[in-house]
Amino acid sequence: MTVTMDTLVSLCKRRGFVFQSSEIYGGTGSCYDYGPLGVELKNNLKRLWWRDFVQNRPDMVGIDASILMHPMVWKASGHLENFTDPMVDCRECKLRFRADDVDTLAWTHYCEATKGNKFTIPAGEPCSHCGARRTLCPDCGKGELTPPRRFNLMFKTFMGPVEEEASVAYLRPETAQAMFVNFENVLQSMRLKLPFGIAQAGRSFRNEITPGNFIFRTREFEQMEIEYFVNPRDTVEGRPADEYWHDRWIADCMAWFRRYGLREENLRLREHDQSELSHYSKRTVDIDYRFPIGWSELMGIANRTDFDLKQHAKFSGKSLTYFDEERKEHIVPYVVEPASGVDRALLAFLADAYTEEEVRGEKRVVLRFHPELAPVKVAVLPLLKKRDEIVKAAHAIRATLAREWRVVYDDTAAIGRLYRRQDEVGTPYCVTVDVQTVGDSDKGEVGDGKVTIRDRDSMGQARVPIEALTGVFRDLLSGGDWAKVASEFPAAK
Ligand SMILES: [Zn+2]
Ligand SMILES: [Zn+2]
Repeated sequence: MTVTMDTLVSLCKRRGFVFQSSEIYGGTGSCYDYGPLGVELKNNLKRLWWRDFVQNRPDMVGIDASILMHPMVWKASGHLENFTDPMVDCRECKLRFRADDVDTLAWTHYCEATKGNKFTIPAGEPCSHCGARRTLCPDCGKGELTPPRRFNLMFKTFMGPVEEEASVAYLRPETAQAMFVNFENVLQSMRLKLPFGIAQAGRSFRNEITPGNFIFRTREFEQMEIEYFVNPRDTVEGRPADEYWHDRWIADCMAWFRRYGLREENLRLREHDQSELSHYSKRTVDIDYRFPIGWSELMGIANRTDFDLKQHAKFSGKSLTYFDEERKEHIVPYVVEPASGVDRALLAFLADAYTEEEVRGEKRVVLRFHPELAPVKVAVLPLLKKRDEIVKAAHAIRATLAREWRVVYDDTAAIGRLYRRQDEVGTPYCVTVDVQTVGDSDKGEVGDGKVTIRDRDSMGQARVPIEALTGVFRDLLSGGDWAKVASEFPAAK
């Protein structure tokens, strides 16, 4: 099934994933805040990316650079000059539009042929009464639009106490440049040999004129970028090293998204054609995802050649080369750049995790997150909250498991409701403590010290001794098989 954006937005707000920024003041345009569950999900996503692409690989290192960089960085990178959109302004209502967007919007029309009645006409269509086409502001329908002007998408600010031209600084529009300007530092301090990559996850800022579609395009966002440097004179499997590694990264990134739950049918590769390629790019391939808004870019993997290092060498006067021991010469490495957006990836994982199903005549909403992505791993639920021994045991179990994972305790509803709530936020397992666990001291009965684990996806149950819980969850939460656990620890029929 395909989930709508409205369904996701409403679930995200209701269950504490994503809130509109500064909502009590009416919201900030296209800025979002991650709530208690959103921050867990986002941290998990970034941690998995770092673990799989940095920690596990001998050829990768990471950095965490400052957001404010020397203004010359943006001159060398071309952002000051070229990171612009052509904009038009309405002279009446002052709204600003991307010039190439104006005719993709429905437009407001005061029709002379019908005594000036107001109509909203679909994008690109003429008025059905008078045949007129849009010439004025599509929003207010009254103002003329200015000729297109170039508008730089970088956020400008000032360093230090004086707001003058000499102290202008920019919030970085991408994390990539920090890897290029630190190339020499990283190379020397870590004694690296080509090929190697530098990774960084962090915030970037773009003053988008038409942001939107929830967290798909926002003005402040997080990126996970890798710059993978290769020796262009090398060959791998008979091919130029940069081309070989470009294909390897495309395959590795696709595999990564699949591994954590994006469905095959919602992923595709899209090759940029010549007209779309940046002038320095040898080849760029996007991984597109079928978002609720349609197919859109999830990440891009570009072969940027030696453009960036050469630009920074030119503007800084520093040599940014690598000494090729074998050929006894200095070369400028080529770079392959797998660049993805955290927020966008999170939206994709949310959309693909979302399922609705009918269980005994009732709708069950489940986020089928991969266990390593799930914001909460285990919920501990007392079957009866009026029984002290049960509540006490449940709190103790939560405290033990919480040493390793995000675990919550909830006793605010009946067990069926509690299960549904955890399903809706994607918690893979619930642990239920009941009378059997603790026994009944009034009747002189001792408990069996076992609790019920309930699996989110199958809704199957297992009865596990409390002392075995940590081991069982270590296995399950790192991809272990539920069926194995269920057969080893069968639940009472
Ligand atoms: Zn207007
Ligand atoms: Zn008309």
